[in-house]
Amino acid sequence: MLRAAQPPRARSRSLPDWFKRPLPRGGATRPVRALVDELGLHTVCESAKCPNLNECWSRRTATFMVLGNHCTRRCMFCSVPKAKPDPVEADEPQRVAEAARRLGLRHVVVTSVDRDDLPDRGAGHFVRVIEELRAAGDFVVEVLTPDFKGRPEGADEVADAGPDIFNHNVETVPRLYRRVRPAASFEGSLALLQRVKCRRPKILTKSGLMVGLGETDDEILDVLRRLREAGVDMVTLGQYLRPSDRELPVERYPAPAEFDALAARARAMGFLGVYAGPFVRSSYNAAEVYEHVAARR
Ligand code: SF4
Repeated sequence: MLRAAQPPRARSRSLPDWFKRPLPRGGATRPVRALVDELGLHTVCESAKCPNLNECWSRRTATFMVLGNHCTRRCMFCSVPKAKPDPVEADEPQRVAEAARRLGLRHVVVTSVDRDDLPDRGAGHFVRVIEELRAAGDFVVEVLTPDFKGRPEGADEVADAGPDIFNHNVETVPRLYRRVRPAASFEGSLALLQRVKCRRPKILTKSGLMVGLGETDDEILDVLRRLREAGVDMVTLGQYLRPSDRELPVERYPAPAEFDALAARARAMGFLGVYAGPFVRSSYNAAEVYEHVAARR
């Protein structure tokens, strides 16, 4: 059931019952831990304190985060460290490809920190990652990119390198941008997604939003409509969880049934793939979501 009005605030630190999950068997995450350490890679799973880390790593799945572990933005939902950016490592794309091969991944998701300091905003590094993955195996390649601030042609360069999925998250509704993503623009992100779809219609485009930052369901539905109008094929909706006291508090915890209702509305808008639920993140079960969409196409 959808709620028309702003739901009650939820500032308590205790999570609703539906967040209780069994712990994985001991040591199940160790192979991913060891490989990431050996190859000197970063993952958004760790840097963004993803609640699904134990589950995903136990299944030998991780999302690689390239271009360092320090972000040039100060988004108020994200725990990726904000500091002077790291040097770009020219061999990182090869190490990502090696990790994907050794983990036996069939679907590789690669994201990055924002690199507003780089002349190309990091687009060339994404291109090299895609090239290395294509050379290393028969992977489905999903990129989750930043907005290439002030240089949207970066999205063209990445799209031209031929990922299977081009993902860029709008993260929240336009009204909350100043508070949640102060250095970004909703219209800019929407335009980026539309630009990729117009340039390379065969590439699946994907975006995602967090629920629980103070938005209403009506605002979420409006964003979904606008994403669909921009040609976005796949969408994810998940619960915002506060990584630490430095980030914004959680305003509400919709029940799983409320996520289901939003998903039903999104499907009715014509998205090829919709994945919504408290634990959903844009890379959560990304392989399964893609396979479902590919089978429908
Ligand atoms: S949902 Fe994505 S970011 Fe979170 S642990 Fe899984 S692969 Fe990593």
